[in-house]
Formats: sequence, structure tokens, C-alpha cells
Amino acid sequence: MITQNVDGLHQRAGSARVVDLHGRVDRVRCLSCATLHERGSVQALLAADNNFPPAPPGGVRPDGDREVPQEWLHQITLPQCPRCTGELMPDVVFFGGAVPANRVITCIDALERADALLAIGSSLVVFSGFRFCRHAHRLGRQLAIINPGVTRADALAHLRLRSQAGPLLAATLALLEPAPECVGGGAGVAG
Ligand SMILES: [Zn+2]
Repeated sequence: MITQNVDGLHQRAGSARVVDLHGRVDRVRCLSCATLHERGSVQALLAADNNFPPAPPGGVRPDGDREVPQEWLHQITLPQCPRCTGELMPDVVFFGGAVPANRVITCIDALERADALLAIGSSLVVFSGFRFCRHAHRLGRQLAIINPGVTRADALAHLRLRSQAGPLLAATLALLEPAPECVGGGAGVAG
């Protein structure tokens, strides 16, 4: 499973093998020594060194973003890497940033061992995800897309389902679950 989300929800839902293509918002990376820190520990440093007003109503967005008054920006004391005092940033690929090459190679390797690619809930406008659809097409793999709107990879797909992912996947799973007489017969769901 390759996800463009940065929230770790796939892992919380039980998926064991996940590539976080755009990183994870619950980790912070040192730009000098590359150590990964838990976001929570860096948050504690932030809170200790600053006196933030309470979050405004509905303040923090699902992606972790928060509107910050301009005057705050000059007052914030930024935490440093506890190991080397280097600068820290969320372990996330922001717009304009590049996905690390080894992460892309991991995804390409998985794709080359797969029979098909299922793209769910993305317009695929950003190249970092679109590239795998294009690679699947080049490899001659089946490509199916589930998305309510058009996607950049529609012309490459063998199957396009214009739908919200949640209800469609739940209904599909119900169809794939083994009938009572087949229990123990090895039926399964490919991830
Ligand atoms: Zn460091």
C-alpha cells in the first residue's frame, strides 16, 4: 500500500506494509544529522519555550495545519535537534519538495511484483502519485481508479469507478468475503 496521506491512519486501521510516500506528520527530522524524532517530544519542547494562546475554534485542520497570526511568527522559539542542535522540520514532503529516491524505488519494486494497481481517492494531479500509474501502464499492468472526479490517469486506466471510496470498498469487501461453504478454502482479499 502506497499512501499520499501523512496522518498514519492506514497503520492505525491495521495495514502493516505501508509506504508513506509524502512522509509522516507525527515525525520530525533533523536537517543536519537526519535523526527522526517523535513529534510529541518536539511538541513538548515547543510548549516549554513558548506561551501559545489557546487554539481558535476549529483551529487545527485534519492535516495538522493551523492558522497562525503573523505576529506570532517573529516570537516563536523554535526547538533544536536534541542530538546535534540542528534545525528541525516535519518529516513531510511539502509542495515543491521531492519524494526521497529510495522511497520511490521501494514503490516501483512493489509495483513490478504486483498484478495490478488500484488508485483510490486521489485526483493524481501531483506527479509523485501519478508516476506509479504511468509506470503500471508501461509495465502492462491493469490499472483501476476509484475517485468521485476526473483524475490525471483516467486515460491510462482499464477501469474507472466514479464513486466515494468508503461505500464502494465496503460493498466490494462484502462481495469478496467467503460464502459459508467456502470458509477455510483459502479465499482472501488482496491489499
Ligand atoms: Zn540533529
